[in-house]
Amino acid sequence: MKRHAIIAANWKMNGSLSLIKEMVSGLNSIVLAENVNVVVCPSFPFLSAFALNAENENLQANIYLGAQNVSEHKSGAYTGEISTDMLNEVNANYVIVGHSERRSLYKETSTQVAHKVKTVLSAGLTPILCIGESEAERTAEQTETVLASQLQPVIDEIGIENFTDVVIAYEPVWAIGTGKTASPEMAQATHLFIRQFLANADKNIADKVPLLYGGSVNAANCEELFAQTDIDGGLIGGASLKVDEFKIICSSAKGS
Ligand code: PEP
Repeated sequence: MKRHAIIAANWKMNGSLSLIKEMVSGLNSIVLAENVNVVVCPSFPFLSAFALNAENENLQANIYLGAQNVSEHKSGAYTGEISTDMLNEVNANYVIVGHSERRSLYKETSTQVAHKVKTVLSAGLTPILCIGESEAERTAEQTETVLASQLQPVIDEIGIENFTDVVIAYEPVWAIGTGKTASPEMAQATHLFIRQFLANADKNIADKVPLLYGGSVNAANCEELFAQTDIDGGLIGGASLKVDEFKIICSSAKGS
């Protein structure tokens, strides 16, 4: 089954206008394997600057812009929120939805995450749906139950047929920003579980969904992780703030 590989940068609440410039000109010289898309997700105030710099530098077509979050509402009295229409206006194509920091710090529930995925899809944007277990849940052998409980509300909300337009990022919470990475074997086994869970609803669709791994991916460990059958790229936090390191990670991805 042919799947795109995706390398997405999650800058979180980091970065600056000068890093946007540095990243765009860094990515301008990158050589990507066939079927690889790169997505840069800076903070909201920097989206337009990325789009403008990308246009000025005539950045290759498979480098995209993404947001780190979005409102589940279309518009209205939601002070401080950002809508999918606004993201479309600044030429974003992807949106990270349900990152573990949103779930734990801002109490986003799996039901709310499912609503966001629906809103994102109806606006013609691609959601990068984040799921993952905590360290205590892995130790208690609850990983599969937790992942199923995060995936099922989205399947119920949008229908499995719409997963052709969804990217899933498996991010074990204990590996995010900690320097601890899941071993390639552990990550592969969990990705296989996710694909099989989707396949229970529709095997053809399950084979098409890009499954990204996230959690302390860096230039030294990316190759081995991306070599796994069911790992179709990565969601990269800390290492995506270093242009040279991010370029190495992007160059090591291979679409199938
Ligand atoms: C993330 O924030 O999605 C992430 C994976 O961060 P890091 O790469 O720093 O672990």
